[in-house]
Amino acid sequence: MSKTPITRTLRNGTNSSTKPSEITPTKRKRAAKPKISSKNKGESGGIEDIEDLLKFNEEEIAEIRGSLLEWYDKNKRDLPWRRLKDDDDGGERKAYGVWVSEVMLQQTRVATVIDYFNRWMLKWPSLYHLSLASLEEVNEMWAGLGYYRRARYLLEGAKKVIEEGGSFPRTVSSLRKVPGIGDYTSGAIASIAFNEAVPVVDGNVVRVLARLKAIYANPKDSVTVKKFWSLAGQLVDPYRPGEFNQALMELGATLCTPTSPSCSECPVSVQCQALTLSRQGGLVTDYPLKVVKAKQRNEFSAVCFLEISESQNLVEDTQKTRRYLLVKRPNEGLLAGLWEFPSVLLGQESEITIRRKEIDKFLKASFNLDAKKTFKVISREEVGEYVHIFSHIRLKMYVEYLIIHLKGGSKLLQSAPDEGSMIWKCADSKELSSMGLTSGVKKVYTMVQQFKENSLTAAPTQDTKQTKSKNSLTAATQDTKQTRQRKKR
Ligand code: SF4
Repeated sequence: MSKTPITRTLRNGTNSSTKPSEITPTKRKRAAKPKISSKNKGESGGIEDIEDLLKFNEEEIAEIRGSLLEWYDKNKRDLPWRRLKDDDDGGERKAYGVWVSEVMLQQTRVATVIDYFNRWMLKWPSLYHLSLASLEEVNEMWAGLGYYRRARYLLEGAKKVIEEGGSFPRTVSSLRKVPGIGDYTSGAIASIAFNEAVPVVDGNVVRVLARLKAIYANPKDSVTVKKFWSLAGQLVDPYRPGEFNQALMELGATLCTPTSPSCSECPVSVQCQALTLSRQGGLVTDYPLKVVKAKQRNEFSAVCFLEISESQNLVEDTQKTRRYLLVKRPNEGLLAGLWEFPSVLLGQESEITIRRKEIDKFLKASFNLDAKKTFKVISREEVGEYVHIFSHIRLKMYVEYLIIHLKGGSKLLQSAPDEGSMIWKCADSKELSSMGLTSGVKKVYTMVQQFKENSLTAAPTQDTKQTKSKNSLTAATQDTKQTRQRKKR
């Protein structure tokens, strides 16, 4: 028989009828890490075949299905996507709602998703309505949820389904052909909306299964992932597949949590091998194996909040006439197709003179904006620093606030030939404050607004402007430092 690289702790014959309430697994004295073996030593070695261990027997399957569904019926959270009914449209609106909610829930907490989901369904109540939306509108609605590629795929998927006749695919195999719908989302839609008896496996399901079967293996490893799909497939209830899948995920989200599982309340504690093993001194939280995350790389950027004033000095200028330059990021890569303030990636931490030089070069190359020829600098000040964390990048942004007056009027603001593909716009303050901006761009905007308020309080007259501006800059920097210190605590 073939050997699987899955490793797990082996059964030790502990009496599994001990009541779970007698156990406080996370508080017990920690024993040695579970032994791991991927080898089948055969009957004489007292170790069972690893393939057999990765199966539930019929009794376990029946008990887990029954207990979990009963618990779910009584305890499920009331969430807006769970209120969608099987209407007389054959479940299509429900399928659409499940799709939207499942995509939003990837990488985002339920509490955050609820409001986004409600607003989304109000604006685009059906797949057809969504298919008519622009990427711009979808990105605006998504602003703040992060991982914007998810929103783009939702839109592309909706357009594709409508183009191909508009009927929602109803099975895992047909759903997998829709752009952006993978194994997990297709399983969720097919089981929840169309009752197909197929499993789903997300992080919560992996954790529950790893503990039920005491699997101590890397849950990101592709072979291990396949085993989790196989285990979930054995358990899924053929009569209530959608509810069973949601119950398994709900258990992982609410009771079988990563660090503080509530085993005494768990409906499947009798079947849980990690709990059984914990009575020997281990911890249920040893399962699954914790994978060390890849280190984020550090990046640095100079961000320029550029205001264009119609007047040549701040006394004559009114905020109403000012406009703000925004550029669209390329359609591929990080934050693809989203608006941001002009910025330049720096190779490393850089001093102010280098940062300004890089921004000047960018403005000249992209917009023919040249301080010597095409505009006059009214004010240029440092606002502060902000670190934005992406999943794999730690981006430190140095934010400056530049106010300019165009010498030849706004027609000078045009793309240079070699940067013709860059898309940009000048927004007034009303448009800017109503735009759906990413959380990083919003943070920069808020920093600048705070800086302006501080400057206004500190520097009411032109004469004292320079001194007061320095004060406000110091204040902003101190704010940033204090915030950092608070975070450290
Ligand atoms: S499945 Fe999770 S919550 Fe339930 S007994 Fe096992 S470790 Fe505890």
